[in-house]
Amino acid sequence: MNLQFNQSLAKSYKSASQIIRVLSEDWVSREGYCPNCGNQPLSEFANNQPVADFYCQSCAEQYELKSKKAKLSYIINDGAYATMMARIHSDNNPNFFFLTYSPEFIVNNFLIIPKHFFTADMIIERPPLPATARRAGWVGCNINLKKVPELGKVFLVKNQQPMPNEQVTEQFQKTLFLRNQKSLSRGWTLDMMRCVDKLPTHFNLQDAYRFADYLQLRYPNNNHIKDKIRQQLQILRDKGLIEFLGNGRYRKL
Ligand SMILES: [Zn+2]
Repeated sequence: MNLQFNQSLAKSYKSASQIIRVLSEDWVSREGYCPNCGNQPLSEFANNQPVADFYCQSCAEQYELKSKKAKLSYIINDGAYATMMARIHSDNNPNFFFLTYSPEFIVNNFLIIPKHFFTADMIIERPPLPATARRAGWVGCNINLKKVPELGKVFLVKNQQPMPNEQVTEQFQKTLFLRNQKSLSRGWTLDMMRCVDKLPTHFNLQDAYRFADYLQLRYPNNNHIKDKIRQQLQILRDKGLIEFLGNGRYRKL
């Protein structure tokens, strides 16, 4: 995988954001591949398609690309708030590629957040643009990546190191079961994943119960939080994400 942008493409563009768009899209179409099935190359949608930027001809997954200079930050600017919320609640939300690059135009990080990890509480409404702005009153949004469990951050390139393709597709496919869950139970599973992220590789049931108060605040109508925690751990076990060692002991896989 060549991590260098083709800077010669930038010559005919003036605006910095346009240049980055052109260079990063070119890089993904040359070097990127489908994290679901491994197919390469990805195909580009025609410009200004509202749906997404790339799709896989083999498995039809769709991808939107967000690029940013320098460090991977947790808050990503996105488009209109209302559009994003509508997409989260529907099935046409694409998967998101996030790309960061160095001042030398080398790809630092390239990761995919599968669409089933997006929840409404990750989308932050920005204040409306002021009356003096060209698009006065327009409301944009930010995406808060802090809410995404580690399993939902699938790196294809990490710190300028390409990851093995098989590792990428395996991690992507491990969580596809979330797509078949209804939004309430998916929310629970995502919350449990976030809690497990905070635990060491080996943990026990009492460790998991320490999140009961936090989860109770998130689900005030649920009167059986500890039962729910055990049920969610079972789901993570059934999906091969953790292992039951017996006597209330668990291991992360
Ligand atoms: Zn594919």
